[in-house]
Amino acid sequence: MQAAENSMNNNKSYTGIDCFRLIAAYLIVAIHTSPLASVSAQGDFILTRIIARIGVPFFFMTSGFFLISGYSRDGQKLLSFVKKTVSIYALAILMYIPVNIYNGYFRMEPFLPELIKDILFDGTLYHLWYLPASVIGGSLAWYLAKRSGYKKAFAVTAVLYILGLSGDSYYGFTERIPAFRYFYTLIFQVSDYTRNGIFFAPVFFVLGGFLADNEGGVFCGNGFPAAQRTDKDGTGNSPKSAERALIKNYLGFAVSFALMFGEAMTLHGLGVQRHDSMYVFLLPCMYFLFRILLGFRGRRLTRVRTLSLVIYIIHPLVIVALRLFAKIFHLQELLVENSAAHYLSVCLLSTLAGIVITVFTDNFKPKKRKSGGGTDRAYVEVDLGNLEHNVREIQKIMPEGCQLMAVVKAQAYGHGAYETAVHLNKMGVGSYAVATIDEGIALRRYGVKGEILILGYTAVSRARELKKYDLTQTLISFEYASLLNKQGIFVKTHLKIDTGMHRLGIPWEEFSKVEKIFSMKNLRIDGMFTHFCCADSREPADEAFTRGQIARFYALVEEMEEKGIPVPKLHMQSSYGLLNYPELSCDYVRIGIALYGVFSSPGDDTLIKPDLRPVLSLKCRVTLVRNIKAGESVGYGRAYTAERESRIALLSIGYADGYPRALSCGRGQVLINGQAVPVAGRVCMDQLAVDVTDAGEVARGDVATLIGMEEDGGISAPAIADNAGSISNELLCRMGGRLPVIVKI
Ligand SMILES: *Cc1c(COP(=O)(O)O)cnc(C)c1O
Repeated sequence: MQAAENSMNNNKSYTGIDCFRLIAAYLIVAIHTSPLASVSAQGDFILTRIIARIGVPFFFMTSGFFLISGYSRDGQKLLSFVKKTVSIYALAILMYIPVNIYNGYFRMEPFLPELIKDILFDGTLYHLWYLPASVIGGSLAWYLAKRSGYKKAFAVTAVLYILGLSGDSYYGFTERIPAFRYFYTLIFQVSDYTRNGIFFAPVFFVLGGFLADNEGGVFCGNGFPAAQRTDKDGTGNSPKSAERALIKNYLGFAVSFALMFGEAMTLHGLGVQRHDSMYVFLLPCMYFLFRILLGFRGRRLTRVRTLSLVIYIIHPLVIVALRLFAKIFHLQELLVENSAAHYLSVCLLSTLAGIVITVFTDNFKPKKRKSGGGTDRAYVEVDLGNLEHNVREIQKIMPEGCQLMAVVKAQAYGHGAYETAVHLNKMGVGSYAVATIDEGIALRRYGVKGEILILGYTAVSRARELKKYDLTQTLISFEYASLLNKQGIFVKTHLKIDTGMHRLGIPWEEFSKVEKIFSMKNLRIDGMFTHFCCADSREPADEAFTRGQIARFYALVEEMEEKGIPVPKLHMQSSYGLLNYPELSCDYVRIGIALYGVFSSPGDDTLIKPDLRPVLSLKCRVTLVRNIKAGESVGYGRAYTAERESRIALLSIGYADGYPRALSCGRGQVLINGQAVPVAGRVCMDQLAVDVTDAGEVARGDVATLIGMEEDGGISAPAIADNAGSISNELLCRMGGRLPVIVKI
């Protein structure tokens, strides 16, 4: 868990936003405790009704930022956002029932309509309105942005905001016009205020999403930019333009805040405010503030997120408890009547309680990860920034409406199924492929959401598990489909068609069998696919073969259409299929090796040449350095004999870790301190020796790089796979055994 949370490169996580969550939470506590009330009414208004009013919109924008990015409007993320918020809301409602009883809440009349109104809009306790507003506002904004894009979504939500304003800070003006007064009277029967999920929240969600897609930033965590996003303002490219953008943001914030201040003071002075949540200049103010915060990148502070939420939810409870405590111990003068001390105590106690709860929930979360090792022996290091980059590159090539199915079989080709899939999931990738049912179950245990397709055979006796873990099974033959259907358990499936590879699948000519499979009542057929056997080759004969496979697949599809069988989602291409046949417009592409940023073999040529970056490095330690005399040998079979006095370093990695034995005796090279040194003698199961005679200082504990790029050159997976008579795919996936996966920070 820890590794994944701290996984981001230093300059990539939104530290500014994470930190401001805490500030925003304290601002909201201020609204509910009025810290300056006992000193100055004016000061209190400025603090709690103007400055602190940026707290809630900030939270809406943050949610929008992570929820509404162009990349993943597939509903999955919205659903999990809604689910999460609703559960928190339900918990909070339960938690506050005692307070509500004390307040006489349950004696209100008419009870049921009032309760429904509160649950939907006002919250069953004053601050809880924020949660239903998030659900309603977030969903509305998500839908509008998906349907019509940001411009129209902004236009619509801005109109809603103006309607909201007119029933909030500007109501004193609005209510003078009878038609408006009538309109708002109706509204106020349903919701006590206009600061709710319909008028207030949506515009901030849209703004957050817009910034996620247009801020030219590097995305990580829950956010991910639209694939075709252009880096218009060049943020992050030239330091000059970045500096200019920064100044613009600060200036923009200062000016809009000053205007908002003037606006608020004027409206307050005129006495027209019905409520004081919404101002015209709050919008630009939030926009610039958020842009400023986006500039602060660094460590990801996941716990601060939970902490700020907990503070938000529980501070009213703390207020009640504190008052009770003060009453019992006669400390009211100090803890309640002194408003500043009151505020600070509430902040302090809420924070302490928040820390306890955060740590508690952290420790009691199911430990999803296999217990990892460290970097003291041999390890795989994965660069998730490069993984994100590759996803984005692949997205650019994919046709409209096509989904990325990330192939994460065999420990994500040795990159760690947990590290890779969980990260892809957070980025919004909604579809995965694995080879076996147990790989699929492991993903679910890691908490991976979305569709998981098992590409290979699963014993039909495990149908119940397919259903339990919501896995999608490939129907590999007619016989298999019949047997699976007979289990009497309704399962999701994709139908595999053999178009010439002659591995798995129903032969494409056997339409009648396909037809029968579609009539099997326990199989829900969501997809149909085929696999190319030579899409990596651009030889004319191979290309003709692949074209033939495509034609056969579509011939079957056509026949289905003619016979009125509903055609499910279709997919054909794996990595090379996409790169060499990008014009096919399928519903999915099943991408494995390209996701990990390497070709199968060094010389491979593809029609489309995306900028892919290797995700994996393979490293180990020098465990001992020894001198040997000329004529002495090293290792099994005495395969290496020193011709001169030599220095030999032993490395803590062997073929059991996935380093090919075929690289023995100088066929493989290793980087130590930037120097390439040859493998001396045979690679053993758990260790190997290298000749470091000419490599300068080498000491125990030094890191040796077996695969990976260093400052001056590097060793690529395709190159050493080729040396070992194999391809990167095999080389990489063999590292999924006993090596710990370390996420590059
Ligand atoms: C492994 C596999 C893929 C992924 O192939 P890459 O070449 O790594 O992209 C796609 N489809 C099927 C059926 C596979 O078995």
